[in-house]
Amino acid sequence: MREYTEYFKKWEEKIGAFIEIDEKAVENIENSGFKNRGNAGENIRGKSEKKTVSGLPFAVKDNIAVKGRSISCGSKLLENVKSPYTATVVKKLEAQGAWVIGKTNLDEFGMGSSTDNSALKKTNNPWDANRVAGGSSGGSAAAVAAGLVPFALGTDTGGSIRQPAAFCGVVGLKPTYGAVSRFGLVAYASSLETAGVLADSVERCRTVFSIIRGKDENDQTSVEAPAKAPEPEEKSGAPRTIGVLPAESVAKAIAAAASGGADSEQALSIAAQAATLEEEVRRGFETAKKKLAALGHTLVDVEIPSLKYGVPAYYAIATAEASANLARFDGIRYGKRPDWAENPDDLIDKAREAGFGSEVKLRILLGAFVLRSGFQDRYYLRAQRIRAGIRRNFEALLGGADYAGGGATCDAVLLPVFPTRAFDRGPSTLSPFAQKAADLYTCCANLAGLPALSFPVSVEHGLPVGIQLLGRAFSEATLLDIAEGYEKAHPFPHPAGYEPFWD
Ligand code: GLN
Repeated sequence: MREYTEYFKKWEEKIGAFIEIDEKAVENIENSGFKNRGNAGENIRGKSEKKTVSGLPFAVKDNIAVKGRSISCGSKLLENVKSPYTATVVKKLEAQGAWVIGKTNLDEFGMGSSTDNSALKKTNNPWDANRVAGGSSGGSAAAVAAGLVPFALGTDTGGSIRQPAAFCGVVGLKPTYGAVSRFGLVAYASSLETAGVLADSVERCRTVFSIIRGKDENDQTSVEAPAKAPEPEEKSGAPRTIGVLPAESVAKAIAAAASGGADSEQALSIAAQAATLEEEVRRGFETAKKKLAALGHTLVDVEIPSLKYGVPAYYAIATAEASANLARFDGIRYGKRPDWAENPDDLIDKAREAGFGSEVKLRILLGAFVLRSGFQDRYYLRAQRIRAGIRRNFEALLGGADYAGGGATCDAVLLPVFPTRAFDRGPSTLSPFAQKAADLYTCCANLAGLPALSFPVSVEHGLPVGIQLLGRAFSEATLLDIAEGYEKAHPFPHPAGYEPFWD
């Protein structure tokens, strides 16, 4: 006995995935008879055909509300605040008999790619504790990778589910915009954001997604999938046509744009460099292509011409929305409040000055800058046009959300997730600017509102590499189908010390 509790403690000390742990829930796992199933190297998970979450524990990113639990968003401003209600995604899983064991760490308000922007604690990568878990859903990804929970919830505004999933070697699904309710999520950039799944197998990811999706009265942006879209439960294993984006072409296109003035030239050449895949990721990507072809899929090269503008458009829109969404944190109704203030304005200034970390402040300033009167044409509206262009580029390949007519040439587009594997915290770490430029391959799905799934394809020099499949709106089933075929043939890897506890 106490097998799981010991396991949990040992890992959690090493990785620090959780901001709040429900000790009783952890005990409950022990008492529910979950046993170490042995054979850590063997993929018992993919073989499980159980389509239920009943009796399973899960973890929830600490920007998704669970009644009576922490909702810190990784921020000093909301440290120790307890949520008065539960998010729809969590309620739906609880209604199926799953239960929350804790709230996981994240970059403050979801802003970042490492989880190191959390003001509350550090989360380490289960494969190498000196490296980041990725972000912003780094705590959720690390908890799943270490086997502490079979699945976890995260949010993805520009890659925050898929990138940490790739860094930690688990499955990460960012659903179609509107497919899953956002009621109970603390908003960062509302038009880009979705709640989604991090899981230990594709099957599990599919099960959780089928439970959490659907229209919610409490979220007017949520919708049912169109009748013609494939059902998430639908599996065919059919060979598909997969468009492959040659990653070098995007980095080259960005570099080619670097011929303007001195400042922008320097920024663009750093951006081009940041978008270039490191050798190990390139190798993982090439291996995945070969393996997908060997599974019977047809791979064709495609171009997404507007992708090279994706990052500037993403950061203009995300920061604009963040500056508006974060205006509500004034220290008056909840959160940390200064001991003394001259007047209400001073109180708000002091609360925000002390409560927000530097990345959050930077983004609020950037957002205010791109929205300032007289300049919206220059940044925000231009970004919206790029956004529409990216969506059109993808729809030309994949077909539109209405599922009308043909014209589509691909069932999915294959992309890298991130140009590097989990990076370290030493001198060679990625600069904050390079981290943003490297969001290129993930943020395009958010700009276009399309579903994207990342899953592990290889381990290169001790660290996992993931790839990403991006699909037509509401085609999650197709992406899951391709990934599941891949997993069956090439079981997913685990970090040293992983023990399988889950059916
Ligand atoms: N790296 C992205 C950002 O910092 C991801 C954010 C997200 O998806 N929440 O904005």
